[in-house]
Amino acid sequence: MLSEVKTGSLTLSGFSLAGLCTSVYVKELDLLLDVGSFLPELLRGRRLFLSHGHPDHCGALVSWLGGRRLLGMPCVDLHCPPDLAPHLLALLQAAERAQGFDFDYRLLVLHPGVDADLGKDLVVSPLPLQHKLQTFGYLFTRRVQKLKQQWHGLSGDEIQRRKSAGEDLFREEHRPLLAYLPDTLPEGLDALPDAVFAASTLMVECTFLDDRKPMEAVKKGAHIHLDDLIPRLEARFRGDDVVLFHISRLYRPEEVQQILARRLPAALAAQVQVL
Ligand SMILES: [Zn+2]
Repeated sequence: MLSEVKTGSLTLSGFSLAGLCTSVYVKELDLLLDVGSFLPELLRGRRLFLSHGHPDHCGALVSWLGGRRLLGMPCVDLHCPPDLAPHLLALLQAAERAQGFDFDYRLLVLHPGVDADLGKDLVVSPLPLQHKLQTFGYLFTRRVQKLKQQWHGLSGDEIQRRKSAGEDLFREEHRPLLAYLPDTLPEGLDALPDAVFAASTLMVECTFLDDRKPMEAVKKGAHIHLDDLIPRLEARFRGDDVVLFHISRLYRPEEVQQILARRLPAALAAQVQVL
């Protein structure tokens, strides 16, 4: 069943359970983050961003593309890390041979440190994390052209005239909208730039919440424990909303809320939601 979380300007619909499935549709950006299991409600999005090759994040790709084809949906852009790309291609080509028809997609490989323009002033920055396979998080930033302070008194006609004459009237403002941080060791968060923690909505995996999972086992799986996350959010988060996801099935949903209410500092608790 889908969960829906509303943050400042975004609506996140999806499902996430560690080891089983993570897949989240962001309505306002019309994109899907990972496709870990097939849900007809998630046959959506102009773009899909895959974080890494574990099956709970990309295992439903073939059935997802098949469902889109059945419904006559348009070509989709699949964005992924370099290490994953050849395996995805091999998988999709094998599926196409097996079924006797082709899928409609473009595979776009992203590289660390290289932003990609998604159109409509939206830019994605791949964020290398520290997991068992090459894993990317993603930061989505809106780039807005703002009139420089000294020209605020100009009329619309005058702005247009000067713009046509080639005058530089604008500055570019970057508004980080959404950071998606799936599977990683907590040290993977430390290496990320401040812009990630300034995102209006920060989605971050938080697989374990209390001491029923020994820390040694948490590290072995290369995941985040709430004890690792709280100090990092307190020190760096400057945005509006934090959305925790990828929570272990060790915890029942009602238990998750109880544990968070007990363990999160009050200021942080007011900002945290769970998908
Ligand atoms: Zn993983």
